[in-house]
Amino acid sequence: MITKELIKDVTINILRRAETTLPKDVKEALVRAYECEENEIAKVQLKAMLENIKLAEKMQRPLCQDTGIPLFYVTLGLGLGGESRKVNVNLNDIESGIREGVKKATETIPLRPNVVNAITREGGEPNIGDRIPYINYKIADIDFDGLEIIAFPKGGGSENVSAFAMLSPKPEKESEKEIKKFILDAVLNAAGKPCPPTIIGVGIGGSADMAMSLAKAALLRPVHMRHKDARVARMEEELLETVNNTGIGPMGLGGKTTALDVHIETADTHITSLPVAINFQCWAARKASARLYSSGEVEYL
Ligand code: SF4
Repeated sequence: MITKELIKDVTINILRRAETTLPKDVKEALVRAYECEENEIAKVQLKAMLENIKLAEKMQRPLCQDTGIPLFYVTLGLGLGGESRKVNVNLNDIESGIREGVKKATETIPLRPNVVNAITREGGEPNIGDRIPYINYKIADIDFDGLEIIAFPKGGGSENVSAFAMLSPKPEKESEKEIKKFILDAVLNAAGKPCPPTIIGVGIGGSADMAMSLAKAALLRPVHMRHKDARVARMEEELLETVNNTGIGPMGLGGKTTALDVHIETADTHITSLPVAINFQCWAARKASARLYSSGEVEYL
């Protein structure tokens, strides 16, 4: 059975893992970047990041002083088809289990209290607030007997250079050109602020809010995994090359690794609209996840 206590414990565990241990694909991409860089300053920056990663993992301490705002993705695989499926979880337990997990993780890992009231700028309970932790829900597209939680603590430096535009829809080639120009302008404007090398998430289509959600969700895809649509995959490759030709480099100090990857997610949109959003993930591209089965078993992914 999936209880509030189980959700709380899993939340603490995946937050600890996310804060202290970078996913393998990100570490490997940073090592490759270090091996390929010729610029001495860029090499020094990447070496410092790799040493930081090793130390954080060894000492089980956060990778960065900005431990992020607590964001979560919850995928519900609750009894989707199949007679034997009987998942026993109260949806309120998901919310309160995650909230209590964040509270405990803040004390024990420990995490910096990053959450304040948006208007007064005053803090309340550390990392707990109005609608925070923010939880995105979706229904699983594969059938499994439980739920999956992804902890995705997001740093302010990379979040603060997010950008959005409602472009004018044009014939395909011209639209693509405008989208690429918008992305490149956002990258140049962001420069070293999002702590590059970044992973760049792009959302194209849907409505304004959907485009930004798609941009953020695009950051969850492993580095160098291409979009399944060949046209979008080609745009990802071309944008990655363009971004890395800007010379911004690691921490904005020059070099050829400004981004480790560009990921695009798309949705169909209104005939008169072309919403485009960009969301950056810094080199400390933290995430960790677990799957909780109705039997009470937990699989850390
Ligand atoms: S953007 Fe990322 S690496 Fe930079 S300070 Fe924030 S969390 Fe740390």
